[in-house]
Amino acid sequence: MKQCALLIVDLQNDFMPEGPLGVKRAHDIVPIINALMPQFSCVIASRDWHPENHVSFANSHPGMRVGDHIHVSGIEQILWPVHCVQNTTGADFVPALKKEYISHQIYKGTDATIDSYSAFFDNKKLRSTGLREYLEERKIPCIVLAGLTTDYCVLYTVKDACDLGLQTYVLRDACRAVNMHPDDEKKAFREMEKRGAILIESLDLLRN
Ligand SMILES: [Zn+2]
Repeated sequence: MKQCALLIVDLQNDFMPEGPLGVKRAHDIVPIINALMPQFSCVIASRDWHPENHVSFANSHPGMRVGDHIHVSGIEQILWPVHCVQNTTGADFVPALKKEYISHQIYKGTDATIDSYSAFFDNKKLRSTGLREYLEERKIPCIVLAGLTTDYCVLYTVKDACDLGLQTYVLRDACRAVNMHPDDEKKAFREMEKRGAILIESLDLLRN
């Protein structure tokens, strides 16, 4: 795992249970990730980083509600509560995260007109966040993923990583899901495996 980068996906205040897009038991993964970070020479953290009128916010569409599905420039968009607005506390990393180990940050969802679940590309794959180039420049052939959320941003990032030919590991116990439908987490892990990702547990790394 030495040559792998650890990619921490969206461990931000607004996704904590008390936040507007709260994910159950999200706090539990922070100590796991803190324990893992020193094992990697490259630790990358992505941040959802939206302008305040972002297309993914229900508020941006009069008459629409959270959970509604709309079509924007040819792709489906689920509407979420306002979250991770640029330069707000909600978009900060959770305070308990050992930020001193983070070597690089990736900002996603920065364009008001399109969402970006993946830490690599926006949802139409029109624009790169720079993560692909960052890994290529450093000749990093594999990534280990942890963070939020299993059924959206982690899943989409894993799919892109596999498509890019990166060896992709997912730390099952260091991810949490939105679970809008009760089986979403299970389905997401299955989908990741189908794409070629390898599911592991934090103990697999901490034991070594
Ligand atoms: Zn978002």
